[in-house]
Amino acid sequence: MDIIIQKFGGTSVSSKERRSMAINKIKKAIDDGFAPVVVVSAMGRKGEPYATDTLLSLLDEDFKNENKLASDLIVCCGEIISSVVMCNELKNRGIEAVPLTGGQAGILTDSSYTSASLIHTNPKNIKEILNEGKVPVVTGFQGVDSNGFLTTLGRGGSDTSASILGVSLNAKEIQIYTDVDGMMTADPRIVEKAEVIDKISYNEVFQLADQGAKVIHPKAVEMAMKGNIPLVIKNTMSDAVGTVIDVMGNTESKNYIVGITYQDNRLQVTINKSSNGNNEGYKHILDTLANNNISLDLINIFPNEKIFTVDAVDRELLISTLKNEGLNFEIREKLSKIAVVGSKMKGIPGVMAKILNALDKENIEVLQTADSHMTIWCLIEDDKVAKAINSIHKVFLE
Ligand code: ADP
Ligand code: ASP
Ligand code: MG
Repeated sequence: MDIIIQKFGGTSVSSKERRSMAINKIKKAIDDGFAPVVVVSAMGRKGEPYATDTLLSLLDEDFKNENKLASDLIVCCGEIISSVVMCNELKNRGIEAVPLTGGQAGILTDSSYTSASLIHTNPKNIKEILNEGKVPVVTGFQGVDSNGFLTTLGRGGSDTSASILGVSLNAKEIQIYTDVDGMMTADPRIVEKAEVIDKISYNEVFQLADQGAKVIHPKAVEMAMKGNIPLVIKNTMSDAVGTVIDVMGNTESKNYIVGITYQDNRLQVTINKSSNGNNEGYKHILDTLANNNISLDLINIFPNEKIFTVDAVDRELLISTLKNEGLNFEIREKLSKIAVVGSKMKGIPGVMAKILNALDKENIEVLQTADSHMTIWCLIEDDKVAKAINSIHKVFLE
């Protein structure tokens, strides 16, 4: 019997009514002759009693930062509650199900608490449960390290759990159920005219996810791609066909842009070379920042100036590092990095010009740009994001 993975996100399991819709999808998979392995997120979003952010809000910031092992243990409760409740409700609908923690599902990770990486998978328990004709309901986002401590795979990591299991069980398909009809050309909360993308390649969806499109975790895409298991993003609350993600993507479409996304809370840093001093610190600043685990992007190096962006979470560490090195620097805050993605844009003239014209039409100042074979980035002020994405969307995707 073919195995399929069905992962339900927080909003898909947030209420009894929604869980009942999720169970309809599980029931349909069984009726269609598949053996489903279910992965669940914690129930609901911030503010709801068992949501990950709610559990995290029970701890002080300092405690969380200094005790990542403890922080992982408290958030794991969210997915554990969700999997047991789901099993109860499956039973009420006549489906025998067994709840499993990430460790019980055989997901062994390293000990990088709050952002652990997979070391090995051993789905022995899952296979036994499937052989008994039951449905395993695995806690998403979760693993166990070699000492038996619970770990998590990074925020949004239930998608990653789904891909880990999909690959190790050689599933026919990994289905990611959420609250929208699929991967869309832009976040529908920002662009009213955003449309569902029927087919898209792993590479393009990875780029969109990595650059901020929340609907799927980039690690989940990377893993499914390595295992060559098709991914499908679907809506728990509708019968829409969803977005199919595979190696080829949409071979028929002539669209060279597939989607637009963004990352907010970026800082733009400009470091100036000193005209009369010792420039050792200036020379090695990228190494120094890397040694402090500060990740940079949109890096531009000029003879007397280095410009790059960093995430605002690194603000304090960045400033103390630059001060330590005695550097002259300026920081511009509250910026966002827009990413325009499409694997067929390579070699097409005028794409950057069209983007810049669209932004100029809305009087949006572009602070920096960069491009690769399938993405163009523009750095702008945070409060212009909606206007910027809508105007670029109009040019390429409407
Ligand atoms: P889940 O709880 O199911 O994991 P998430 O909140 O992680 O759901 O992701 C779903 C949300 O992602 C949607 O509600 C949507 O607003 C947002 N989103 C951002 N960019 C996109 C996009 N390009 N396509 C679809 N949804 C997107
Ligand atoms: N509950 C976790 C989070 O909110 C994992 C997930 O939902 O994917 O990050
Ligand atoms: Mg998610």
